Amino acid sequence: MANAAKRRLENVPGDFFVDESCIDCDACRWIAPHTFTQAGDQSAVHQQPQSPQQRMAALQALVSCPTASIGATDKATQAQTSRAVATLPRAIDGNVFHCGFHAESSFGAASWLIVRPGGNVLVDSPRFAMPLVKRIEAMGGLHTLFLTHRDDIADHDKWAAHFGCKRVMHADDARGLKIDQTLQGRDQLQLADDLLVIGTPGHTRGSACLLHAKRHLFTGDHLAWSARRGQLIGFRDACWYSWPEQIESMKALQSLSFEWVLPGHGRLHHASAADMATSLARCVEWMEK
Ligand code: SF4
Repeated sequence: MANAAKRRLENVPGDFFVDESCIDCDACRWIAPHTFTQAGDQSAVHQQPQSPQQRMAALQALVSCPTASIGATDKATQAQTSRAVATLPRAIDGNVFHCGFHAESSFGAASWLIVRPGGNVLVDSPRFAMPLVKRIEAMGGLHTLFLTHRDDIADHDKWAAHFGCKRVMHADDARGLKIDQTLQGRDQLQLADDLLVIGTPGHTRGSACLLHAKRHLFTGDHLAWSARRGQLIGFRDACWYSWPEQIESMKALQSLSFEWVLPGHGRLHHASAADMATSLARCVEWMEK
């Protein structure tokens, strides 16, 4: 639980607050932007929720915070937390859900759930929290756990053991892990008619993306929307393997059509396929500067 005695001075007065343990993962700021903002190198409440919808989003951020750095002083708000828990995973687009319950061991990266007749897919690992486990059981369990890269694997062993799902990952990030299916380099691996894994080395040597239904591209830390720049980006300051390789991998994505970018870190982005292609071309241009 967040510690009210360590409430950041940057919070506005009122019920919700962020304490000094925030690791600046950004999750609360895109889950509940009406409530949370960046203040220095941590988050803070810039406005208390103004509506039931904003309150629910703030509670979803509270539940999802990887370090339990968000608190609420009002007893009535605290009592509503279980209602927020029950809303996760939350629908993003059709059968794609944001899991919430971000894990500190993945530095608060987002994870995603695809609910599909051929078997559900979990993209990267949230906390192995029992309320989330129960919800995913009720949504049909897990057939596949796709790991975009080594940094966002969190509790993958627990998820795989509980659901008996197969794990898929790029071979160059899979060393030492129990992975059932791998790919190499910039190879493409067709997991099913609607699931294509694409090797995108750069951020790490074994980064990979997953394209679902030619609509949703799950990108890990390879590609994300930057709210500050207003464009798609790669994380140059957090590129752990090779920036030139990441540029080449970004160019390889230009042969694909998609409408959503769903990253581990950074912001998700939705646009028409044509506008997404334009944004991706601009991103490549920006990376090559
Ligand atoms: S989700 Fe938690 S750790 Fe992440 S920025 Fe918000 S308060 Fe900080």
